[in-house]
Amino acid sequence: MKGVLALLALVAAVTSMEDFSGQQVLRILPANEEQVTLVHDLESYEDLKLDFWQGPSRPERFIDIRVPFFSLQDVKVYLESNNIQYSIMIEDLQTLLDEEKRDMKIGRAHSTDTFNYGTYHTFDEINTFINNLVAENPGFVSKVQIGSSYQGRPLNVLKFSTGANRPAFWIDTGIHSREWVSQASGLWFAKKIVKDFGSDPSLTATLNKLDIFLEIVTNPDGYVYTHTSNRMWRKTRSPNTGSTCIGADPNRNWDAGFGGGGSSSNPCTETYRGRAAHSEPEVKAIVDFVKSHGKIKGFVSIHSYSQMLLYPYGYTTVRTPDNAELDNVARTAVNALASLYGTKYTYGSIITTIYQASGGSIDWTYNQGIKYSYTFELRDTGRYGFALPANQIIPTAEETWLALTKLIEHTRDNS
Ligand SMILES: [Zn+2]
Repeated sequence: MKGVLALLALVAAVTSMEDFSGQQVLRILPANEEQVTLVHDLESYEDLKLDFWQGPSRPERFIDIRVPFFSLQDVKVYLESNNIQYSIMIEDLQTLLDEEKRDMKIGRAHSTDTFNYGTYHTFDEINTFINNLVAENPGFVSKVQIGSSYQGRPLNVLKFSTGANRPAFWIDTGIHSREWVSQASGLWFAKKIVKDFGSDPSLTATLNKLDIFLEIVTNPDGYVYTHTSNRMWRKTRSPNTGSTCIGADPNRNWDAGFGGGGSSSNPCTETYRGRAAHSEPEVKAIVDFVKSHGKIKGFVSIHSYSQMLLYPYGYTTVRTPDNAELDNVARTAVNALASLYGTKYTYGSIITTIYQASGGSIDWTYNQGIKYSYTFELRDTGRYGFALPANQIIPTAEETWLALTKLIEHTRDNS
C-alpha cells in the first residue's frame, strides 16, 4: 500500500506539469491587412486557448501561434478557408520540452567555477549561484534586494562596483518567465564580468567609471511556475479581480503609453497590461530603484526570441530625438554580435521593427532620461522559439555579450 501511495504521489508530481503533447506552433504569413485582421480575430475565440508567441503585426510579417491539440483542426480549417499561408514550425511541443527536461542537470554547484552554464537552472539554483558569486568576490560583487515579487520572492540584483556613487548601467533578464535563454545568459554574463575585470582593458575601464546592475530573475513567480506547472508561462502571478485568469504582462505594465495599442485589457490574454501602470511589484521595484538611484545611464532588457536589437519607441511611431545615434550604436552592436557565429539580428525601433507594444520597460526608462535604452530579442528566429535547446545557451550568451559590450562602452564614453 505504501508503495502504491508513493507511486501515486510520484505520478501526481510528474503530471502536475502542463502537458503540451500534440500541440503545434504554427507560423502564419498574412499577405495583406485583411488577413492580419483575420488572424488577430482568432484571439477573441478564448475557447481555442491559443498562445500568440509572435504578432500579429503587419502583412508579410510572420505570426507564431501555439495551438492546443483540440484546436488544431479548427485553426487550420480557418486559415485554409481564408487562404492564409501557414506552416508547422513545431510539430509537437512536448517532444521539445521532454528533451529540454532530459538536458537539465540538477545539482547545486558549490562555486561559480563549477557551475554548469550550459544548462537551464531552477530559481533556487540561481539564488545559490548569486550568493556564491557575491561570496567569491567581496568588495566587488554584492547583492541588492530591490523588492519582493507578488508571492514574496526576493527581487535580487547583482551589483558590480569598484567605487562609491558611480553612474550605472542596468541589465535585466527574464522579465517574461518562459524566455529561459534570457535568464541563462544573465548567469553567464555575471561570471563573464567577474572573469574579465582586471584582465580585459575595456571592461576594466568601464568598471572604473560605471557600476553594472544585473537582475537575472526579473519575474521570479513566473519563473518558478515555468518549472513547476506550466513551462509556457509568460506573465506575473498576481490575481485579477473579477477574473479567474492570473497575472499581468510585466512588459506592458510600465507608465509609457500605458493602455495603448499592443497591450490588452483582458486578463486572460498574454499581453494583459495589469489594472494600472506599475501595478506589478516586479515592475514597481525597478521603477523605484531607477528613480532613487538617479544615475542610470544605460538600460537593457533582455528577451527572446526573434534575434532583434530594439530601441524606443514601442507605443508610438514618433521617433525619439536620439533616433540616429541609437540606430548607429545598434548597428555596431549587431555587427559585433554577428562576428562570432554569424547570427543575424535586425534592429530598429520597437514599433517599426516588431510591432506596437505599449507600456514597455525601455520606453519608460527612455522617457526618464536614460538615453541608451535597448531591448534584445535573443535566439532563435522560431525553429525552437521559447524551447531553445540548452546547447545554444553558451553561444547565445557569448555573442550577445559582444553586442552588450558595444552598448556599455558607448554609454561609458558618452555620458
Ligand atoms: Zn519577452
